[in-house]
Amino acid sequence: MSDLKYKRIVLKLSGEALAGDKGFGINPPVIKTIAEEIRDVYNLGIQIAIVVGGGNMWRGEAGEEMGMERSQADYIGMLSTIMNGLALQDNLESVEVPTRLQTSIEMKQIAEPYIRRKAVRHLEKGRIVIFAGGTGNPYFSTDTTAVLRAAEINADAILMAKNGVDGIYSADPKTDPNAKKYDHLTQMDIINKGLHVMDTTASSLSMDNNIPLVVFNLNKPGNIKKVVQGEKIGTIVEG
Ligand code: UDP
Repeated sequence: MSDLKYKRIVLKLSGEALAGDKGFGINPPVIKTIAEEIRDVYNLGIQIAIVVGGGNMWRGEAGEEMGMERSQADYIGMLSTIMNGLALQDNLESVEVPTRLQTSIEMKQIAEPYIRRKAVRHLEKGRIVIFAGGTGNPYFSTDTTAVLRAAEINADAILMAKNGVDGIYSADPKTDPNAKKYDHLTQMDIINKGLHVMDTTASSLSMDNNIPLVVFNLNKPGNIKKVVQGEKIGTIVEG
């Protein structure tokens, strides 16, 4: 365990991470690869909690734009995260990783309800815990959920896995060739430089709790392992 920088992590997987090139739904080879990557990190002896998003199926804001009542649309979004959670659980168990799925909205027939103490116990017993359903409240995001759960379970770090982007940049690297990547930032730097890392609710919760945040590219094999072993990849937000 000595070469491990973090012993208990919250891994945030966006819904898009599960979708692959199509950007929609669940791509079986993609989710299988992610499960294998997570298994490799799990085998190092790391306690892993995963917060899964739902943007590959539904976003509340998009529903609102279509004329739906926002809270109603957000509940559809929360249900999408639970579908992703089930798929992830299935894939992790098929690579021999014991898991528990906990949902913030009770759905006892298919998952445990979120109970903080139980989640911590599962981690201590070597089970990966998947947190689905977001916070259980409309108007929030799964980024906020990741920060909230990380604070609740005393995680050492939040690993924010990105699709194809390898950290935090001064501008959007996809559109601005002069965009500069930061290796290290403080919470204050994020405010002072006006960087957009997470939505404002997630950012302010993160700032208040000051849990190290690592933003890195999920699409490069071995990256999650590199982060927990303290290799300098992505951007670390700390202090
Ligand atoms: N959502 C919500 N409350 C939460 C978390 C999520 O209402 O606490 C809804 C919201 O509609 C959001 C959708 O679930 O658009 C999917 O979550 P998110 O956008 O965070 O997923 P990601 O972008 O990570 O795939």
